[in-house]
Amino acid sequence: MKRIACFCIPAHGHTNPMTAVAAELVTRGNTVRFYSFRAFQDKIESAGAEFVSLDNYLPELSEQEEQALKNVKISEMTVQDIHITIKLTDFLAEEFKNFRPDIIYCDSACFWGKLSAWKYNVPLVVSTSTFAFNRLSSQYMKHSPAEMADMIFGLPKISREMKKLEALGYPRKGVLELVSSDNKTDSVVYTSKTFQPYAASFSDHYLFMGPSLRTNIVPDKEKARPLIYISMGTVINDRPDFYQHCMDALKDADADVIISCGKSVDIASFGTLPQNIRMYPSVNQLEVLSETDLFITHCGMNSVSESLYMAAPMLLYPQTGEQHAVARRVHELGAGEYLRDDSAEGIRTAVSGILKTETYTEAARRCCDDLRGCCGTEGAAQFIENAPHTSESPDPLKELSRLNLPFSLLFRVFAAVLILTGSILKIKGLWIAGIAACILAKPFDRLVTQMHYKKLEKRLKV
Ligand code: UDP
Repeated sequence: MKRIACFCIPAHGHTNPMTAVAAELVTRGNTVRFYSFRAFQDKIESAGAEFVSLDNYLPELSEQEEQALKNVKISEMTVQDIHITIKLTDFLAEEFKNFRPDIIYCDSACFWGKLSAWKYNVPLVVSTSTFAFNRLSSQYMKHSPAEMADMIFGLPKISREMKKLEALGYPRKGVLELVSSDNKTDSVVYTSKTFQPYAASFSDHYLFMGPSLRTNIVPDKEKARPLIYISMGTVINDRPDFYQHCMDALKDADADVIISCGKSVDIASFGTLPQNIRMYPSVNQLEVLSETDLFITHCGMNSVSESLYMAAPMLLYPQTGEQHAVARRVHELGAGEYLRDDSAEGIRTAVSGILKTETYTEAARRCCDDLRGCCGTEGAAQFIENAPHTSESPDPLKELSRLNLPFSLLFRVFAAVLILTGSILKIKGLWIAGIAACILAKPFDRLVTQMHYKKLEKRLKV
């Protein structure tokens, strides 16, 4: 029986998988204290955990800051994470003294939980509500130029804020160390090894537990005509333009349509809805997905996992870098197709293409079997109770770097020799070839990494 402190940022997509695991931890007799925010209180208390509100420690935001958060601006989220951590310092010092947690189970983006675990030397298990991202799997992320600019220009401000943390006794960490996954930290990931990109590059400190759901609902697709479900998730879902295009595309289709539009869209503004379309601020997504034949999704990790768990193929409409990574994996596994044209005509064509093609449904069914074969919340609870874990096997990422090094060095020496020889002997062709080799060094490294990764994957049978 352990005392387990859970920490999460105020976001449904991050909190939902943790509450399902928390419920299992409680069932197994552990004392679980969940530090969160009032919007999630009911969920947490119905999981049987003790809810502690951190609402009073949320900073007052200017309109500009609020807008940046709504648009999921990474730099602003990071700065706010740091501000909350600073405000929470005294409160958490008291809590750690009184509650004396044996283990911290903390969302990967929640700085105050992670930093406190390190500060007070309590074993940490990180909850990873997206894919686990290391230098290989992060290649799946496709950042827009605006996201890239935000990260680059936001860095100096983030570094300044990070310095304030050190002064409060938190360990010195780089921002990348704080947000990315490493092979030494015990981590729970809410997907399978099959779905996780580059799964073999993660050490056995990682538990790929499958979707974190506590449900008995199973897929049931028997009905007179197909059901199409549309949702943009719970964060960036204020998209009346997109919902209107979906309605225009599907109003005459021989299919039923359910749209979950979020709380900020005014449903009345769409007038009388077509007879085959229903629209709600929120639905019981698992129940709807169990009957869904096609899910038009923003590709949030939870939504996609739930869709595959319910064997529903997808039309992929990712908006952020992370969602692009998830979409790419669904596409690779054949369980969905990209929505490349989001006009009414484009949506109509894409929907009928997927509904007509059996292979998407077959792939979704295969993914469903794979995810349902994972260890689930029970396995995750055991993993958390037994933290910290030790690992006997070598770090796969370090092994890859070791294997790549000679190739990488040789290629660079080869490029240097070409340039030197070219300039000494005044042979322009050689000199240019040397420069080209320098430019190609990075893609060459990637190729070699791929080659070694494939071997590693085979050896580890992932
Ligand atoms: N969700 C829900 N009802 C809805 C829409 C969404 O319960 O009408 C839940 C969904 O089941 C999922 C979460 O909200 O667990 C959305 O998480 P996701 O990671 O897909 O997207 P985010 O909202 O974080 O962008």
